[in-house]
Amino acid sequence: MKTVLIATNNAHKVSEISTALNFEGWEFKTLRDMGLVSDPEENADSFEGNGRIKAKAARAAAQEALGRPVAVLADDSGLEVDALDGAPGVYSSRYAGADGDDAANNAKLLRELGDRPLADRAARFVCTLVFIDEDGAETVARGTIEGAIGFEERGSEGFGYDPLFLPDAYESARTLAEVSQKEKNGISHRGNALRRLRDALAAQGA
Ligand code: IMP
Repeated sequence: MKTVLIATNNAHKVSEISTALNFEGWEFKTLRDMGLVSDPEENADSFEGNGRIKAKAARAAAQEALGRPVAVLADDSGLEVDALDGAPGVYSSRYAGADGDDAANNAKLLRELGDRPLADRAARFVCTLVFIDEDGAETVARGTIEGAIGFEERGSEGFGYDPLFLPDAYESARTLAEVSQKEKNGISHRGNALRRLRDALAAQGA
């Protein structure tokens, strides 16, 4: 069995990752599963940089606890709005101040965009995955989903900015919070990054 430590405690991410990377003989464990704590400061100016910080910190925690290296996978993601010069970007989870206050973040985003028309509200979610194998070899995969920011929150699925995000794939008729998790995974930034990572790892013989 090859154990891959996922640098998160988010159970939902774990099931999405283990479904996408269902290679023979691979098993996925969270930090909590392995009795590890790793919560580094994410102070890089890119999603890839923050993903690497999380992956390296989790790898170091595992090395210290087990006395041997394990493979690790970390992800970092966020929203980029063109009219706001790419904000909230790496600050997506703490855009309005407190970390992870989705309602406050969405309210601030609507305020910042004001009454700009839909054509000036283009945005994308970005997800970067950083995989570091036992031997230290790094594989990075990036995925995006293009869309626009709506004028009001709609839908109750998903999390974060989903109720405001109108994917281009739906011609702005539905938000990402108005589709099932399964449907979202099929078009999302994280789904796309995972499919790219799966292909890259398969090409390396996984
Ligand atoms: P993290 O990479 O899980 O830390 O996510 C960073 C932040 O980006 C989240 O707190 C959300 O605000 C936003 N975000 C990332 N992915 C999504 C998504 O799929 N839907 C909505 N918001 C997201």
